[in-house]
Amino acid sequence: MRGSLTDDDLMGWLRETDAARLAQLWTLADETRRTHVGDDVHLRGLIEVSNHCTRQCGYCGLRGENRGLTRYRMSADEVLEAARQAYACGYGTVVMQAGEDPALTGAWVADVVMRIKRETGLAVTLSLGERDRDDLRAWREAGADRYLLRFETSDRKLFQFIHPGRRGQPSDRLALLREIQGLGYETGSGIMMGVPGQTYASVLEDLRVFRDYDFDMIGIGPFIPHPDTPLGGREVPRAAADEQVPNSELMVYKAMALTRLLCPDVNMPSTSALATINRRDGREQGLQRGANVVMPNLTPVPYRRLYAIYPDKACINESATTCHGCLNRRLLNIGRRPGRGPGGRHVRGVERGVRRPVATVRGA
Ligand code: SAH
Repeated sequence: MRGSLTDDDLMGWLRETDAARLAQLWTLADETRRTHVGDDVHLRGLIEVSNHCTRQCGYCGLRGENRGLTRYRMSADEVLEAARQAYACGYGTVVMQAGEDPALTGAWVADVVMRIKRETGLAVTLSLGERDRDDLRAWREAGADRYLLRFETSDRKLFQFIHPGRRGQPSDRLALLREIQGLGYETGSGIMMGVPGQTYASVLEDLRVFRDYDFDMIGIGPFIPHPDTPLGGREVPRAAADEQVPNSELMVYKAMALTRLLCPDVNMPSTSALATINRRDGREQGLQRGANVVMPNLTPVPYRRLYAIYPDKACINESATTCHGCLNRRLLNIGRRPGRGPGGRHVRGVERGVRRPVATVRGA
């Protein structure tokens, strides 16, 4: 079916409401996931390094103008300690994520990456927003393996509205993602689902972008309104009733399942935002509808509450060890197992990172 998925088919699925037909989509996505990436669930320990942000994204609680938020920035030693916990829990990767914070300088991040690699040997993913090419290159040379940057929506007008550019220059995240790919990073992107103004047609285009950009990782989560942001208010403009995609759990599952069919060997998280809107078993259902990755939170507990990109985040008070136990049980319950090793993307049996070694990047 994958090869034969036309735009009409994709749109039909995005708008599908019949439970029996949707059950077929879930089965197909789950089978495709099993065939191409297996039953291993790769665990990426998430370290939310800083909640300082110079941007003004309309959707995100970390936006600079949100004065109600207490700001924090982890020290290098705190990040290292979290990475050691990831290692102790058997995770293969740590993800350093933050708001766009210039105090996380090129040199500071490079040094932390080197220390993590030297001490733990873990794969390191960075998700630090739109940074200069020089920083991105330096971090890659310091040993960073992957970079995550969602393009959020392919609707350029909507993106510019919800994500104002720097110094009046609109952001072009897709162009930046191409650069990131060119530097030899395994590259991840993704979208939010159900942003006010986001149409079915634009989600269809998002799926086409996923297919055409050959991303190594794709994350899709529900938009969760934050009351202290412009998009969290009641008076936010929405698309026409029939065109607006809902920010529902079901809509997220549909996009995840279709993404698995279009990009069978991609690494796809069952996101924390999904686990937040269905705390009981959103995580598991995501893993049964295309996903093969989970990102347990390793941020020190006192900081976690402050990394408030959206409200009421799940698992905010659990220690790393509690999370670890809970997650293992949840995986076993659905017949899956934690992955071993870095869990990079394999394309036809070959690990992606091996095809694009750092040495080539340096020479480029
Ligand atoms: N500063 C980095 C990391 C941002 S947080 C960057 O911009 O890439 C990571 C992701 O959280 C964002 O890309 C966005 O897709 C998601 N996010 C932010 N606010 C959200 C909200 N209110 N609801 C759901 N997801 C949100």
